[in-house]
Amino acid sequence: MKALVMEQTAEGLAEPHIKDISEDLLPEGDVTVKVEYSTLNYKDGLCLSKKGGGLVRHYPHVPGIDFAGTVERSDSPEFHPGDKVVLTGWRVGEVHWGGYAEKARVKSDWLVPLPEGLSTRQAMAVGTAGFTAMLAVMALEDHGLTPDKGPVLVTGASGGVGSVATAILAHLGYEVAAVTGRPAGAGYLKSLGASRLVAREEIAETVKRPLESETWAGCVDAVGGAMLARILGQMKYGGSVAAVGLAGGADLPTSVIPFLLRGVNLLGIDSVMQPKENRIRCWNRIATDLPMEKLEEMVQSVTLEDLPALGAAILKGGVKGRVLVEL
Ligand code: NDP
Repeated sequence: MKALVMEQTAEGLAEPHIKDISEDLLPEGDVTVKVEYSTLNYKDGLCLSKKGGGLVRHYPHVPGIDFAGTVERSDSPEFHPGDKVVLTGWRVGEVHWGGYAEKARVKSDWLVPLPEGLSTRQAMAVGTAGFTAMLAVMALEDHGLTPDKGPVLVTGASGGVGSVATAILAHLGYEVAAVTGRPAGAGYLKSLGASRLVAREEIAETVKRPLESETWAGCVDAVGGAMLARILGQMKYGGSVAAVGLAGGADLPTSVIPFLLRGVNLLGIDSVMQPKENRIRCWNRIATDLPMEKLEEMVQSVTLEDLPALGAAILKGGVKGRVLVEL
C-alpha cells in the first residue's frame, strides 16, 4: 500500500517519504479501513514537520489525523466490510498511524458510521477542522445563542475551522462577522456567508480597558492569544466564546472582568477525546446544516506528494479553506 511515512534521519529529524509498504506494518486494531480521503489540518502540519510538533512519539510514522473510507476487514460486531466510516481525533495520526496511507487499522470505538447523505469525499472536505467548527457552533447553541441575539464573530476565518464555521452560522441565519488577515480573501469569505469583515490588526491590538462596547453575541475563535482577550471584552452580556484554536498564540492576557461584569462564557472545544455520542450528533448536524455547495468552494484536492509543502504552509497561516487528500 502507498503511504506517506515520516522517518528519522541520523540527526534525529523527521523527513517525509512516499513509499510502498506492507499492510502487515499497520498498527493493532479491530477494523481495517480502505482510506479514500484524508485532509490537511494545522496539527497535520505539525506532524509533518522535522520535530513532529511535539505530537509524534515514534518513527517511522504515518500522519493524517482524519480519514474517511470503506471498512475492508472487521473483528467488531459494530462494523462490516463495505460500511462507510469516518475518523477524527483519538490521537490518530499523532501517536497511532493515521490517514496518509491507502489503508488504516484502528479501534472500532474510534470510528463513526458516515451519516446518511454525506459521501466520504464530503466528510473529509469537512474533516477535523469542520467537525470542530460544528462542535463550536453546537456549544454556543447549548449556551443559548440564537440568531436574534446579535452578530457572531469568527476568527481565523479563511482557515479550515473558520471557513466551515462561517458557512454553518450563515446557513443557520446568523449575521457573521469574519476576522481575517487576508483582505484579498474578502470575496471568498462573503461567498461563504460573512456579512462583515474585520481586519486582523483592528482586533489583535491589545487595549488597556477590560470592557469595550457590547458587540458580539457569540464567537468561534481559532486564534487565541491577544485577539481572544480583546474579544472577551467586546462580548454582549451573557454571550459565549467557543475557544477552538491557537493560530495566534496560546497565551490569554485577560482579566476576570468580562466574566464577572458581563457574565461572558468561555467554552473550551476539544475534538480529540469527544465522546462517541456527541460525535454522531455532530456529524448528523454537519449533514443537515452545512451547505454542500459552500463546502465545495473551500476545497482544494491534493495528493500525498503535495503534503510536505502544504504542511509547512499551513503552519504559517498560508492555506485557505480545506485541503482534501485523495488516496
Ligand atoms: P488554518 O491554518 O487552516 O487556519 C488558521 C487561520 O487563523 C489562518 O487561516 C488565518 O486566517 C488565521 N491566523 C493564522 N495565523 C494567525 C496569527 N498569527 N494571528 C491571527 N490569525 C492568524 O488552521 P485550522 O483552521 O485547521 O485550525 C485553526 C486552529 O484550531 C489551530 O490552532 C488548530 O490547532 C486548532 N484546532 C483545534 C481543534 C480542537 O480540537 N480544539 C481541532 C482543529 C483545529 P486569516 O488568514 O483569515 O486571518
